[in-house]
Amino acid sequence: HHQTPRPHIVILSTAGMGHVIPLTELAKQLVLLHNFSITFIIPPFGSPSTAMISVLDDLPPENINYTFLRPVNLDDQPKDARVETLIALTVSRSLPYLREEFKIITATKRVVALIVDLFATDALDVAKEFDVSPYIVFPSSAMSLLLFFDIPNLHESYSGEFRDLPEPLQLPGCAPCPGPELLYAIQDKKNDAYTWILHHSKRYNLADGILLNSFIDLEQGAMRALMKEEPGKPPVYPVGPLIQRHLTNRVDESGCLKWLDKQPRGSVLFVSFGSGGTLSYEQLIELAYGLEMSGQRFLWVVRGPNATAKGTYLSHSSNDPFDFLPDGYLDRTKGSGLLVHSWAPQIQILSHGSTGGFLSHCGWNSTLESIVYGVPMIAWPLFAEQKMNAIMLVEDVRVALRPRANENGFIGREEIAWVVRILIEGEEGKSLGNKMRELKEAAATVLRENGSSTKSLFDVAQKWKNNNKTI
Ligand code: UDP
Repeated sequence: HHQTPRPHIVILSTAGMGHVIPLTELAKQLVLLHNFSITFIIPPFGSPSTAMISVLDDLPPENINYTFLRPVNLDDQPKDARVETLIALTVSRSLPYLREEFKIITATKRVVALIVDLFATDALDVAKEFDVSPYIVFPSSAMSLLLFFDIPNLHESYSGEFRDLPEPLQLPGCAPCPGPELLYAIQDKKNDAYTWILHHSKRYNLADGILLNSFIDLEQGAMRALMKEEPGKPPVYPVGPLIQRHLTNRVDESGCLKWLDKQPRGSVLFVSFGSGGTLSYEQLIELAYGLEMSGQRFLWVVRGPNATAKGTYLSHSSNDPFDFLPDGYLDRTKGSGLLVHSWAPQIQILSHGSTGGFLSHCGWNSTLESIVYGVPMIAWPLFAEQKMNAIMLVEDVRVALRPRANENGFIGREEIAWVVRILIEGEEGKSLGNKMRELKEAAATVLRENGSSTKSLFDVAQKWKNNNKTI
């Protein structure tokens, strides 16, 4: 008498933090709650950051292995190739290595599913070859998934650039989205990034199902539209919010948690643009003055401006992001502001009682984290699908304020100071905070034993377990 081996799942994540974090959380749940074993595979994209390695090393070693595939050559790509292109190419050129892994894994394990990231649908072919059920995990909103389903139609029906759409795009159950606010990667049809997105969006129907990192209460209208069964549309399982769990040990190298401990309840605005967001030099300066002028407390993760903004400043021998700030800024804001270099323990900051608002680039993980901890937001979207996330948060759910940009997309210091003041101490800020706390409660409920996201994951896990094939 011997134990039947755990059914095995292969997860293929692309190499961004915004992907690795939710996908490792999914892996943990599948191991701990549903008794699968997992191989977590990443086609590498440059060398992994220390933050990424620490997330991966934090995986429970029992029943989860992670592995980086061999690097692929992208030397034929132009210098200005977009990140979507590079990621999609990395995946498609990694398929031979993925096949090798699959050969090794399937020799000893009963693999029941391959779950791939949103730009990795080429890997679904490998699932088919090994007779394994193909799934996609979509680490963003229901609204964005609706857009993905619609891209092949939009491509056929509108020959111009989407930024010139005469009317905002009305995705079912969503707030209208003006053309220029749609996914950044589809804004230029001549760019390879567009071709890749179109390619992947056409392949979504090859999946047996799509796991979505959102939850019903957050996007009710969009969810209803997604749940409608239509020919060629795989079933969608809302399993979110999948976010990094609260770390019990306080890693506080920058001292920001200690600083937060000393601030009044709900008084601090947390300012961060995710793992890679940068502003132009001029916009960075304007934000600095805006925060100062608001008179509110703030904790700002500062990153240097991007290269195109101010070449001369970047050839400066130092790459300390604080060097770009106005003269005397650190001294002047010492009493009310804390500035941190490049990276901060975001989960601990958002869950801290002193944090009263989050000025965010609206990356999907940051958005979910703000919701899980009930922190109202200032939406400052930069790239990817962040403008769509901002529309959802501002127009639809009403938990965020969005500062107005001028016709060049530039946001002035008065505007910044004004929204910060409203969010932290205004009446409107209070009502956004109340709404955010309702969502926080809903986010906790969907993950409880009988919650909708728990049930969705259970349903799909049952499907995989019932895929009974002998080794
Ligand atoms: N993050 C963090 N500290 C930082 C910046 C980011 O812990 O200083 C984490 C953040 O909590 C989130 C992820 O990195 O889980 C960023 O993902 P998101 O989707 O918000 O944005 P992206 O980095 O993909 O643009």
